[in-house]
Amino acid sequence: MKPLAIVGFPHPLLKTAGSRVPCVTPEVLKQLEAMTITMRAHPRCVGLAAPQVGFRERLAVVDVGPLAREKKGTNHGLLQLINPVIRRREGNRTVREGCLSIPDFTANVQRATRVIVQALGVNDQPLTIEAEGFEALVLQHEVDHLNGLLFLDRVSSLVTDVFPRKTYA
Ligand SMILES: [Zn+2]
Repeated sequence: MKPLAIVGFPHPLLKTAGSRVPCVTPEVLKQLEAMTITMRAHPRCVGLAAPQVGFRERLAVVDVGPLAREKKGTNHGLLQLINPVIRRREGNRTVREGCLSIPDFTANVQRATRVIVQALGVNDQPLTIEAEGFEALVLQHEVDHLNGLLFLDRVSSLVTDVFPRKTYA
């Protein structure tokens, strides 16, 4: 399986809420696999949501493993999530975020420091993930994508909180 092309801003799909996946089918598993391969194909990419590769379903993949040494927090390894929702948020901090779909900018956004996420796993079983630190930030970013929200929608000021990207990892 080859990596999929990344859908970039301002494609309308990035502003569209995803549709709930009614049940785990071979097609859904294939989509998650393709998303995982695509995430892995981009260095320092730790998460990817369905609309970023042109899918309308509520699917996301996360793996903070590659950055676990430099970022603090939990590390559940590869998470392939179907219909993920954030059930609980705790804490608040300002963080600098970027996104594969908006490669030219980073921005300061407010995020919870700890989240509890519920989703359906690839084995069709419900999953509860308690994440803290960097992994919690990534999960919030990806769930936002499934609700048609980009990190630019979360900045307080487009003037003071958005920055042109200087280096591409
Ligand atoms: Zn993103």
